[in-house]
Amino acid sequence: MSATFDMNELHWLLDIVQSIDVGVVVLDRDYRIEVWNSFMENHSGMETDLVRQQPLFELFPEIDANWFTQKVENAVMLGTRAFTIWEQRPNLFHFKSYQPVTGLADEMYQNVTILPLRSTSGTIDHVCLIVYDVTNVAVNKRQLESANAQLRELADLDGLTGLLNRRYWEQCLQREFARHQRYDEPASLVIFDIDHFKHFNDTYGHQLGDEVIREVARLTRQLARETDFAGRYGGEEFVVLLPNTDTQGAVQFAERLRNAIARLQIDHQGEPLTVAISLGVAGMQAEMTNHQALIQAADQALYHSKENGRNRTTLHPNLPVEP
Ligand code: GH3
Ligand code: MG
Ligand code: MG
Repeated sequence: MSATFDMNELHWLLDIVQSIDVGVVVLDRDYRIEVWNSFMENHSGMETDLVRQQPLFELFPEIDANWFTQKVENAVMLGTRAFTIWEQRPNLFHFKSYQPVTGLADEMYQNVTILPLRSTSGTIDHVCLIVYDVTNVAVNKRQLESANAQLRELADLDGLTGLLNRRYWEQCLQREFARHQRYDEPASLVIFDIDHFKHFNDTYGHQLGDEVIREVARLTRQLARETDFAGRYGGEEFVVLLPNTDTQGAVQFAERLRNAIARLQIDHQGEPLTVAISLGVAGMQAEMTNHQALIQAADQALYHSKENGRNRTTLHPNLPVEP
């Protein structure tokens, strides 16, 4: 290979380095800048003449010098390349992001390759940094993550009422059951079902029936505490788990809810319609071996309310609650 050819090749390489859309920086072993391509000029606003032979950490005090030198020295010692990725540190250089996106990214996210450069004599006298703008990738990933979090939340809620769905509510019950057994704290379960709802649907239509379900859920949410777990257990069947509440407190809640729902007026072509609910209440007992036992106890009490005239509350085992 002739010397002229090498010179040509060098020119090409310099042209390429100048025009590629990644940052190229070469540092000597004292962290002084030797090469600074146009990507770096454009994004830092500092021209090559200004930065050449200047110490990197003085020009860019935002770089964590301890961390970065350790990475570089390691790469030099091993003679292999190293990487910094945006998931661990958003960027090395605090460049502005010009992406036309949201408030998610004001700064450019960067991946950086640290490339030890070996001289012809075999020693490593320089290190090359290749800076990739990964803002697009990072913003997309962040957006995807937040969308996934929203989806997960939606997947836990019942579509019609916004209460916890049955699957998720049972998970909560299971968790609370274990916790309350361990710490021997009280917890109660209220289960309730709308009375003669099939008849309501048949008479006034499914759509108005849906509205009743939504209104019942709204009142339930309104009367329950922030720390209670209110769920839609089935079509027109609801459950409220009351942590740290004894059966007396749970019965009070049940009666307040029953009365609120009995007072509810549903408009049907100007005519006010009313509905009623039957409820069963059970408290967590030391002898219950799993969360299903608590559901069964409350369900038996609900059955008792249905058998004895509806629109009433029963406390397990079969203790009628006087209105
Ligand atoms: P009971 O007093 O014994 O509870 O009588 P009921 O008619 O309410 O009980 P049943 O279980 O026989 O009927 C429940 C009805 O609830 C059946 C169905 O028409 C209605 N239903 C269940 N889910 C929904 C729903 O999502 N929307 C509407 N509109 N109706 C529902
Ligand atoms: Mg039912
Ligand atoms: Mg019913």
